[in-house]
Amino acid sequence: MKFENSLDFARSLDKQDPLKDYRKLFYIPKVNGKEAIYLCGNSLGLQPKSVEKHLKVELEDWKTLGVEGHLHGKNPWLYYHHYFSKSISKLVGAKVDEVVVMNQLTVNLNLMLISFYRPEGKRNKILIEANEFPSDYYAIEQQIKLHGLNPKDCIIEVMPRKGEVTLLTDDIISKITAHKHELALVMLSAVNYYTGQFFEIKKIAAACCEHKITFGVDLAHAIGNVELKLHEWNVDFATWCSYKYLNSGPGGVSGVFVHEYHAKNFSLPRLAGWWGNDEKTRFKMFKHFIPQPGAAGWQISNAPILSMAAHKASLEIFDKAGIKALRKKSELLTAFLEFCIAANCELSTANSFSIITPTNAKHRGCQLSIQTRKNGKKLFEKITKAGVIADWREPDVIRVAPVPLYNSFEDVWKFAQLLQA
Ligand SMILES: *Cc1c(COP(=O)(O)O)cnc(C)c1O
Repeated sequence: MKFENSLDFARSLDKQDPLKDYRKLFYIPKVNGKEAIYLCGNSLGLQPKSVEKHLKVELEDWKTLGVEGHLHGKNPWLYYHHYFSKSISKLVGAKVDEVVVMNQLTVNLNLMLISFYRPEGKRNKILIEANEFPSDYYAIEQQIKLHGLNPKDCIIEVMPRKGEVTLLTDDIISKITAHKHELALVMLSAVNYYTGQFFEIKKIAAACCEHKITFGVDLAHAIGNVELKLHEWNVDFATWCSYKYLNSGPGGVSGVFVHEYHAKNFSLPRLAGWWGNDEKTRFKMFKHFIPQPGAAGWQISNAPILSMAAHKASLEIFDKAGIKALRKKSELLTAFLEFCIAANCELSTANSFSIITPTNAKHRGCQLSIQTRKNGKKLFEKITKAGVIADWREPDVIRVAPVPLYNSFEDVWKFAQLLQA
C-alpha cells in the first residue's frame, strides 16, 4: 500500500479498518483530560471494559456461596484453568493439552528449567541472547548454580555483529552448531523486549532438534503480538505473561506450553503440588504425587481466580478478533508508523533518529524501537507532556508499540508528528 503522511490519510485507514470497533472495548487512559496516545501495550496492555463484569461474577459467587463456589459457582473455580486452554492454544499454536495457565512468568520459567535443563557431563551449557531480559538471565544463572555448576562456564551468549543491534538467524544457528556437544538447552525470547526483533523460531527449533538440544522460548513480547506455531515448530517448552499484549491486568496470570512429546514423561524432575496431581485423586489425599499428563501436570497451587477472571475477559476479545486478523492490521499499523517517522525525520534537522527494529515485518512484532541521536530524554519528556504514553530505555531508546486491538492509525500519525516538532 502507498502511504501518505497526513491526518486525512490516517483517518481513511481507520475508516477501512475491519477491527476499528475493538478500540471501544477498552478504557483509554487520559492525559490532561484528553485521550492519551497509548503506545505502551508491550509493558501493560489496557483494561478491557468487560473485566469489571467478569470480576463481579466471581466476587458475587464468593460473597453468596463461599467455599461452594469451587463446585457451584457460575464458573466453578475447581476447573478454572480449563477455561483458557482453547483460547491460549490458538494464540501459541498448540494442542489444548499442551498449555496451562498458572503462576507468574519468571516463576514458570524456573519451573520449566527444573524439568528441562538437565546438564549431563560436558553437555551442561545454556545458550542465550547477550541482550536477554534481566529476569530470565537471573533465573538461568541460579538454575545453573542449583546443579552445582558455575554460570561463567555454562552460559553461552550469542551477540549481534559489531556495529549491529539485532541478531542474524544464521549466527544463532552457527553458534548452536559450534557448541552442539556442550549445549543442554537453548533459551530465547521469541521477540526481544529491547529491539522488538522476532526471531525465526521455526529455523532455530529445527537446528536444536537436529542436535537433540532442548529448546525453550519466552513469549512475554510475542503472545498476542505475532502468530506462533509452537507445536508444529517442535519447541520443547515456553512460558509467557498476560499483562503485556494480552491485556489481563498488572501482575496477571502467566502460562506454559509443554510439547506433547513430553506429556507423559513422568521421569522428568519437577516441582509438585496438588493442582498438578491427577484430578480424580486430588482430594483423596494420597501421599504420592501422580502428575496429570500434559502441561497441566506442572501446576502446583490452586488457581488465583480474581486474576484469572480478568484474563478470561480479555481472551474472549482475542477469540472474537482472531490473531490472524490482528496480525494483519498490526503489520499495516507498524508499517504506517515507520513510514510517518521516516517522512518526518527528513523534515527534521534538530533531532534525528534511527529505528533499530528490523524493517522486515516477518522479523518484528508491532513494536518499533527508536534510537535517538541527541537530546533523546528531553524529547521523550516533551512527547510525554503532549499526551504520549510510551517507554524510555536507557541510554537512548524510545519503545513504541501500536497495538491493533486499541490503537488507531490516527494515534500513530499524531505520535510521529510530535516526534518531529
Ligand atoms: C516482561 C518480562 C518479564 C517479566 O517477568 P515477570 O515474572 O512477569 O515479572 C520476564 N521476561 C521477559 C522477557 C519479559 O519481557
